[in-house]
Amino acid sequence: QTKNAHQPEFLQAAEEIFLSLVPVFEQHPEYIKHNILERIVEPDRIVSFRVAWQDDNNDVQVNRGYRVQYNNVIGPYKGGLRFHPTVNESIMKFLAFEQIFKNALTGQSIGGGKGGSDFDPKGKSDAEIMRFCQAFMTELYRYVGPDVDVPAGDIGVGAREVGYLWGQYKRIRGAYEAGVLTGKKPGYGGSLARTEATGYGLIYFVSEMLREANDTILNKKVVVSGSGNVAIYAIEKAQHFGAKVVACSDSSGYIYDAEGIDLKIVKRLKEVEGNRISEYVTYRPKAVFTAGCDGIWTIPCDIALPCATQNEINGEQARTLIANGVKVVAEGANMPSNLEAINEFLDNGVLFGPAKAANAGGVAVSALEMAQNSSRTYWSFQEVDSKLHNIMKSIFTESSEAAKKYGYEGNLVVGSNIAGFVKVANGMLVEGVY
Ligand code: NDP
Repeated sequence: QTKNAHQPEFLQAAEEIFLSLVPVFEQHPEYIKHNILERIVEPDRIVSFRVAWQDDNNDVQVNRGYRVQYNNVIGPYKGGLRFHPTVNESIMKFLAFEQIFKNALTGQSIGGGKGGSDFDPKGKSDAEIMRFCQAFMTELYRYVGPDVDVPAGDIGVGAREVGYLWGQYKRIRGAYEAGVLTGKKPGYGGSLARTEATGYGLIYFVSEMLREANDTILNKKVVVSGSGNVAIYAIEKAQHFGAKVVACSDSSGYIYDAEGIDLKIVKRLKEVEGNRISEYVTYRPKAVFTAGCDGIWTIPCDIALPCATQNEINGEQARTLIANGVKVVAEGANMPSNLEAINEFLDNGVLFGPAKAANAGGVAVSALEMAQNSSRTYWSFQEVDSKLHNIMKSIFTESSEAAKKYGYEGNLVVGSNIAGFVKVANGMLVEGVY
């Protein structure tokens, strides 16, 4: 606590995991003897660097870049890059710490890391984005590599940014090491179904949660926050499975469409035009736009899918969702519910799918992209999607069984934390003290 007093997001993530691990430590004295907890909570290293770049007016701008390499017991460090003005060391550390356990849950050989910059891509020209990405990689290349550390996208970093980063890495290294980054464009080193993976994976996970409760997603009313990569493909798969998605948002506010969101419009606004979600109502006059993000959780729904950012659901919002009859909450974003909200859901019988299990589909398909890159083959969309589906099923089963084994049946927070932690902790025992 004292060492990280100035890092609230990191402390929040660490507290959630540590609380879940109490029953594991009671049964495994070897973890205490080898001081696994104190070792695992300290990253292998954190790199922070200056990113100087020229804007369209030829003025020189300076941002800060980060890469947190947390743990590589299971495989090369792996985790996305976030470009957002709120990025700081606390946010980087919380994301990288969570990533260790999420990646372990996927069953793929990937360790935990994360990175990014406080650069704000909003309002920047394409040329400015390119110059920023090139400047960022000009320093980052020293610390990454297909067997060392493999970054990917996150908030503010999609296939376009990954393309610029990858181009610059290739130029500097003078070698085609495709496995150094994932989320590349299909046909240019990328995997089919990576774009869809986190959102589709989230819905596969929700389907497993409902299946265990003898229910399905068919005809359920769904509210999704965000309208970025995760949100869009969660909406797409939920609609494909027969659910009715009635709301989504961006950082300026949310739209409610009682007849069901028309995803074609959202895709055009967000993926093609880079427009605000408020524009949706110009195409669907019966829909309503409300400024501000908080109110989205007052919309009655069966399933709530927070897919925007951390801490978007607090205790009060959780209580509103529960009072309105929510049955399932599953996290597409990382740590979107705070601890109070999680406890409200768990104490009130809501099926709760925590981020590190429910949104692991993206990184799982990133690992499949690495596999395709190293074997120089490409798999079809169906092949990747079906592997993703199986991975999500097995993450659900493992988390559910771990919860049962340690006396917390039905609690996927405890289950996923334990299932991920035990894999990493056992690897640390095998590798000795360092
Ligand atoms: P995008 O940048 O594609 O979309 C983010 C969405 O969330 C946008 O609609 C954005 O609105 C909104 N948003 C971002 N910050 C805030 C904020 N502070 N307040 C309100 N809304 C906000 O990102 P992704 O969809 O890739 O990521 C969303 C979440 O999912 C993040 O938590 C990320 O870590 C997590 N995640 C992503 C994965 C992936 O594969 N992409 C994998 C696993 C987790 P606006 O456009 O107005 O900024």
